[in-house]
Amino acid sequence: MTRKTIPSKAKAKSIKRPTKAAKRATPKASKTPKAPSKASKTSKPAKSLQAPKQPKAWTPAEVEEAFRRFQAANPEPKGELQHTNAYTLLVAVVLSAQATDAGVNKATPALFVLADTPAKMVALGEDKVRDLIKTIGLFRTKAKNVVALSQRLLAEHDGQVPNNREALENLPGVGRKTANVVLNIAFGQPTIAVDTHIFRVSNRTGLAPGKNPLEVELKLEQVVPPQYRRHAHHWLILHGRYICLARRPRCPDCLINDLCRWPEKAA
Ligand code: SF4
Repeated sequence: MTRKTIPSKAKAKSIKRPTKAAKRATPKASKTPKAPSKASKTSKPAKSLQAPKQPKAWTPAEVEEAFRRFQAANPEPKGELQHTNAYTLLVAVVLSAQATDAGVNKATPALFVLADTPAKMVALGEDKVRDLIKTIGLFRTKAKNVVALSQRLLAEHDGQVPNNREALENLPGVGRKTANVVLNIAFGQPTIAVDTHIFRVSNRTGLAPGKNPLEVELKLEQVVPPQYRRHAHHWLILHGRYICLARRPRCPDCLINDLCRWPEKAA
């Protein structure tokens, strides 16, 4: 067994302490990073890592004021999808999924001249419909859906567009958003169809934040005063399409600039 040798007092004395001058000349050993202390573990994360602060919710008076301004600027807002009746509106909205209204409007006049009722659309047939709408994205699936929903309207609704959500959502190619647009425009119901523009405007401004379109829709229904609900859909879409643009919102031209909670808005 090896024994540890303990330095004697004399030996210990002979280990001279470095002089001040020597200390100055000897570079300090580089510090090894210390393990984070308890305090630093619990201290606040860097600003960039912190969750963004939730903006203050709009007060009812602010929401009222925003819609009062929208109404004053555009008392009778209109959708931009061309149609001649409830049926052609339904078809146009189905065709507009993941496509622009302008793109749909280029294709539908030729289609609706030939088929502005479910019976005429069924008679036209899927191949011809597909050919007429081939400039619109997802045209194959959409042609199939348009003919199938027309058949269903004839079979189950006397060729009429139903005015209730459940029946509409049962039609091929018709989801909640499409049903909301048809209920609002064709039947005057105070529904709000949350598209990409409404979703962005509602979240960005803090008016009705939500993680998905349904959350935003339900929030808007809670906060928009009843007298503005019928047209809220169009005001918010038009605001998103022409003012609160996705990439470069036109904040200086915005009539709700002072109410908007977006931290990056321009004055
Ligand atoms: S101020 Fe800017 S970000 Fe806010 S709603 Fe208006 S355009 Fe959109």
